[in-house]
Amino acid sequence: MSTMMSAMTAFHTTTPHMLKVSKEYARRTLMGGLSGFESPIGLDRHDRIAALKTGDIGFVHSWDINTAVDGPGTRMTVFMSGCPLRCQFCQNPDTWKMRDGQPVYLEAMIDKVARYRDVFQATGGGITFSGGESMMQPAFVSRVFRAAKEMDVHTCLDTAGFLNKNYTDEMIEDIDLCLLDVKAGDEERYKVLTGGMLAPTIAFGKRLAAHHKKIWVRFVLIPGLTDAPENVENIARICESFDGAVEHIDVLPFHQLGRPKWHELRIPYPLEHQKGPSAELKDRVRRQFEAHGFTVF
Ligand code: SF4
Repeated sequence: MSTMMSAMTAFHTTTPHMLKVSKEYARRTLMGGLSGFESPIGLDRHDRIAALKTGDIGFVHSWDINTAVDGPGTRMTVFMSGCPLRCQFCQNPDTWKMRDGQPVYLEAMIDKVARYRDVFQATGGGITFSGGESMMQPAFVSRVFRAAKEMDVHTCLDTAGFLNKNYTDEMIEDIDLCLLDVKAGDEERYKVLTGGMLAPTIAFGKRLAAHHKKIWVRFVLIPGLTDAPENVENIARICESFDGAVEHIDVLPFHQLGRPKWHELRIPYPLEHQKGPSAELKDRVRRQFEAHGFTVF
């Protein structure tokens, strides 16, 4: 009991009424959930929605520390839960539903960033929000970014940009780098691949450029689905429209590492027998982007 009480009093929140004492809360806090975070379990629906809107809590799938994967240096990457798209090639369908994530207090997240601050500064790293779709929870993400900037920590948003309208110009100011997924070069292909629209991605890229932000474009190369020369040309032209903001383009070869998750979740997997690209195809696509003057990884 005393352990539970001391854990509970360690919480700080801007809306203390959210925390409800319950056996379920204690069980999940002490035995499960996100390693390293104490979650406000036991909120009723109304509390959750209110806290989500203000960013007092965020629903998080998981987090990790990595180097040079999701931005420069050593990074804390936080995978937010919830995504409005349904990409055929998604590697993380377990992040699609926001309710499957764990609620985490804003202040717990900011404390975690502060704890790694020296590592970030020594390595040129920082915090990256990924997903799922990081822009599903704009209040939480942008408040963590605001706090990170006050600590002089580098910020990176990994997004498809589909929820462009969720982000205000003020929020964009606190993004140092955006990993922007450009999944297809035309609306028709984008719709088939993701179920969504391409226009918001383009709009978000242009807004980032107007705010002098850096962009690393990510493009998943899938034989028969995204490899058509005209598709690659269209993506190159979209990148050009970002007005010099694109530092490089990552050509990511499709792989099947996500397949077991589709099976576990019993979601029909449309790319069950899809192969990855050959070395020749990767070379051709890289050269196409390079012909437009882009650095390609
Ligand atoms: S945007 Fe990302 S998380 Fe969402 S469905 Fe597509 S690949 Fe999956």
